[in-house]
Amino acid sequence: MVRQRTLEKPVSVVGIGLHSGAKVKAVFSPAPAGTGIVYTRTDLDPRVSIKCSADNVRDTQLSTTLVSPEGERISTVEHLTAALCALGIDNLHVEVNAPEVPVMDGSSQPFLYLLSRAGIRELDAPKEFIKVVRKVRVEDGDKWAELSPAAGLLMDLTISFKHPAMDPAMQHFAYRFSGQAFSEQVSRARTFCFMKDVEYMHSHHLALGGSLENAVVMDDYRVVNPEGLRYPDEFVKHKMLDATGDLYMSGHTILGQFRAYKTGHALNNMLLRTLLSDPANYELATFAHERSVGVEYLGARHAAPLQA
Ligand SMILES: [Zn+2]
Repeated sequence: MVRQRTLEKPVSVVGIGLHSGAKVKAVFSPAPAGTGIVYTRTDLDPRVSIKCSADNVRDTQLSTTLVSPEGERISTVEHLTAALCALGIDNLHVEVNAPEVPVMDGSSQPFLYLLSRAGIRELDAPKEFIKVVRKVRVEDGDKWAELSPAAGLLMDLTISFKHPAMDPAMQHFAYRFSGQAFSEQVSRARTFCFMKDVEYMHSHHLALGGSLENAVVMDDYRVVNPEGLRYPDEFVKHKMLDATGDLYMSGHTILGQFRAYKTGHALNNMLLRTLLSDPANYELATFAHERSVGVEYLGARHAAPLQA
């Protein structure tokens, strides 16, 4: 059978919090089958744990934020969640000593590297997938996102930015998701923003940790970062990375075709909630063989070295 996965051993990382600008420590530990992905705030007394689920996503303003019933928050989870999707990790404890996960370099790559180095352990329980059986679609003005039945996970995303630094020919990306394809083609794409937004956010004490170290920043004409872009189509690939994380907030890989136009965290979450709102839209599927799933993950038998 295709088995649930967790980490082989605990691993930790220290980085900057996007919102606070302060140092944040995150500790990732193995968890038994059926646990799901559970975040714990260790800076609170008593500690507060929040399970990763579509319903616990309550704020999608600057990043994807999980909120507990008591109103405690854990922000900036989406780039980590995308890495968990690529590694096929179903069960994990994530402890943070702040209301946010460290932003690292603004992409998924540092998480992918760290967690794959810790190793993947398969557990003695069947892995559950969310198989789309009926098309669902959400819209917001001219933006839209939809999921329809397909073998594996096919992803197709278009953005529409008019800016001198954003090539109109580089605003569409489509691929068949796998851990390897995500790692090579998508995982290094950084979040991006405009200088005027940075100035506005800093004046309102938001995104204090945001810098050229963890975002692609554009002024009115060009990319400000001296190193330039990591991929010619880094912008659309970052939106793809975000969608990968947002769609994995249920803790299960979706099997289907995802198509979206100008989507973002809010619309992605609305799409996931809409899918899960009616049991006629999906089924929970388990598989005897990985080849029947149509999605291959990193780690275990796919231990290709990841670049640091
Ligand atoms: Zn992002």
